[in-house]
Amino acid sequence: MNTNRTGTLDTMIIGGGQAGLAMGHYLKEQNRAFLILDANPRTGDAWRQRWDSLRVFTPAKYDGLPGVPFPADPLSFPTKDEVAGYLEGYAERFALPVIRGVRVERLWRETDHFVAASNGHRWEAHNVVVATGCSQAPKVPGFAADLDASIVQLHSSQYRNAGQLQAGPVLVVGLGNSGAEIALEVSRTHSTSVAGKPGGELPAKHGPTAARYFLPIVRFLGLHVLTLSTPLGRKAAPVFKAHATPLIRTKSKDLAAAGVQFVPRVAGVQDGMPVLADGTRVEVSNVVWCTGYREDFSWIDPGMLDGGALPPQHRGVALRTPGLFFLGQEFQYAAASATLPGTARDARHLARRIPRPPMAARESARAGEKEA
Ligand code: FAD
Repeated sequence: MNTNRTGTLDTMIIGGGQAGLAMGHYLKEQNRAFLILDANPRTGDAWRQRWDSLRVFTPAKYDGLPGVPFPADPLSFPTKDEVAGYLEGYAERFALPVIRGVRVERLWRETDHFVAASNGHRWEAHNVVVATGCSQAPKVPGFAADLDASIVQLHSSQYRNAGQLQAGPVLVVGLGNSGAEIALEVSRTHSTSVAGKPGGELPAKHGPTAARYFLPIVRFLGLHVLTLSTPLGRKAAPVFKAHATPLIRTKSKDLAAAGVQFVPRVAGVQDGMPVLADGTRVEVSNVVWCTGYREDFSWIDPGMLDGGALPPQHRGVALRTPGLFFLGQEFQYAAASATLPGTARDARHLARRIPRPPMAARESARAGEKEA
């Protein structure tokens, strides 16, 4: 595979996780000249880097990308390394042109094309799909810096296992799915409290039976009912973006049974220790911030953004900058948009809208293909 094409590409995909790969699959089907630039050394690393015991909550039957079913019992829940391995195999199987180890540091527009720069190299393309995921920059409150230096602090993106923690009590901040799963795990070795309230709980026990009877309903709602095309979906979208998703596998009663203490949200720091919303100062040795992520488009020319944030777009098609597309954003079209089951449909939608480049560029791309 020749990934050293010269000239202006038809399309450049930035980010080679599941979203970028699904996008690449559809562009390959159309015989388009494109490249995928990815910051990680190995395809699948975004999953590999998550905590050791992580299993997806979506059953294998919904975890496949277009063209290749996930190779596992359809009612099972793959480990994060199995998902990573599947994505790596997917890129190889379709010979997707991924350039690894390239973190795009700047993206801007020049007259009729985009330029991406990384470490002294530059790539030009008529279209760009930003598929860098919606969990890029860990979100931690500013007062975390005031915690006593003796406290071990980790964001959930840095947590791998309880062995990273020191002896003594653990405070898990945030009760979304990451907070619940990490709190349950660390409660086996540490006295654990969890701060905050869950954004609801799925009303069924997670497992193979749910995968057979209940999760198909959740998938249907997430893909076809809660979308920007329905009044209910338009109402739900801002709520989904602002709040943690309901607890799926580990529920409050599982945490209570494991002896995890529930405490109010953390409001600040006093004398180096966390202070809760009710004024209580808690003595802890470890804090795990399960407080989510924020957008990070700081590498994109602000003129193509909206005050540094995602610009006005419809289903990933940027409305003010022709040729600019986004994929894998939270509720980009549906509640399932930023998950394995939702990626393919959004990618297919974009693939049908990415314009073909002008004739000259097409010819230069064809010349590049011949060299391959
Ligand atoms: P990512 O997987 O984050 O991939 C983005 C890629 O872009 C990365 O490879 C990164 O290296 C690259 N990149 C970033 N910036 C740049 C740059 N400037 N230049 C070049 N490359 C760049 N979904 C499910 O369906 N089921 C689950 O069970 C599930 N569990 C999850 C558990 C956790 C803890 C988290 C955080 C998410 C989970 N998700 C789950 C949601 C979602 O499926 C994943 O976040 C998934 O990784 C998103 O895929 P993506 O391709 O959009 O982004």
